[in-house]
Formats: sequence, structure tokens, C-alpha cells
Amino acid sequence: MLRCAVCQTPSQLSLCKGCQTLLQAPEKPCQICAKPLNQSDGVCGECRSDPPAFTKTYCAAIYKAPIDKWVQQLKFGERLDRARIMAEALLTPLSALDKEVPVIPVPLHLSRLRKRGYNQANEIAKIICKQQNRPLLSDVLVRVKNTEMQAELHEKQRVANVRAAFQVVKPIKCLKVLLLDDVMTTGQTLRSASKCLINAGIQQVNIAVFARSGG
Ligand SMILES: [Zn+2]
Ligand SMILES: [Zn+2]
Repeated sequence: MLRCAVCQTPSQLSLCKGCQTLLQAPEKPCQICAKPLNQSDGVCGECRSDPPAFTKTYCAAIYKAPIDKWVQQLKFGERLDRARIMAEALLTPLSALDKEVPVIPVPLHLSRLRKRGYNQANEIAKIICKQQNRPLLSDVLVRVKNTEMQAELHEKQRVANVRAAFQVVKPIKCLKVLLLDDVMTTGQTLRSASKCLINAGIQQVNIAVFARSGG
């Protein structure tokens, strides 16, 4: 019998109805980066003063307890089953996006991928692509710079840290893509990867993240 991944009650989905309420979508999100704002139809200050290369962000939940723990477990604790919660939570928001739009998971640097054994963004993307019948492009974008862990750096260092960190290594034969990661905090990684895709000829980059920090 399938059980809820959090409370273990029988459930067909990875989260039962009760535990689904733990996922709180951002209220009145920024139209571009999904940061929670206090006004509707708004764009946050950062997207206004320094617009990112991406157009829109699909997001399932605000990054806070207890879901921050699931993210950490997927990233560092090898709880690969957490990817299913994150993928399923994104299915409804992503149903609004054209089914032909392929998913590009934010890549890890090869040395980190070898160490960890998997890319958490790719694990989430695999489930979404299977469920929604979307093309998965796991090998078109690579991380060429082995960046330090972003969370340990200050804002200015983070910007410098991810500059030119990505490279498109295969032709991408579509105009729109969905760039996927587990979490968006400062957004610098997703900004950098999006810019790289736009420079490679993609016309529209959309973002999907399981969780968005409140900023
Ligand atoms: Zn539950
Ligand atoms: Zn914004």
C-alpha cells in the first residue's frame, strides 16, 4: 500500500490531503520570480531594477519549515523519495504550461555530481517529464565552474560566484524551455543559467522550483 511520505497514512499521492496543506504557495507572487509580495499584479524591486533573463517562475511552496528539511534531505541525505513530493507538487502549476516545452534541470558540476551520485534537480525533472509527457533535456546545459556552496556566501560573492558558470553544449531545437531547480533563494544561479540559455538562442526561459524563499 502506498503511504504518505510524511505521516505514513495510506495515500496514492506522496503527500496525503492533510500534509498537502504544509505546502503554502507564495501569496501575491512577483510575476517574474515568484517572490511573495504584498501587492497583486506586481513585480518585485529586484526584477524591476535588474530584470532576469527568465520570464516567469512556477513554484509550489514557500521555502520554510517543514519543507526546507525535505529539500535538505534530497540534496544531502540521499532521500531520493523526496523528489516525488516536489515533482507532484509542481504538476498542477505546470499544467498551465504547454506540454511541448522541454525541461532542463539545473546541472551540477561534474565533480559534485560524481560525489553525490545524482542531481536532485534531475530527479525532480524525470518525474515531471514522465507524468506530463514532456521532453527532458538533461545533457544540453553543463556547469563549467565548480562553484562553492551558494548558501555559505554573501550576496555579492554569490553574484560573482555564478557568473559564467554555465555553458550550452548541445543545440536546443526549441524556442521555449523550462529550467528546473529544487529551490530558488537569491535567484543568482537561475539568473545565470537563464542568461546562458538566452545567449544560446532560446527565446523564452521559464523557471520551475519546488520552493521559493520569501526573501
Ligand atoms: Zn500525510
Ligand atoms: Zn521578482
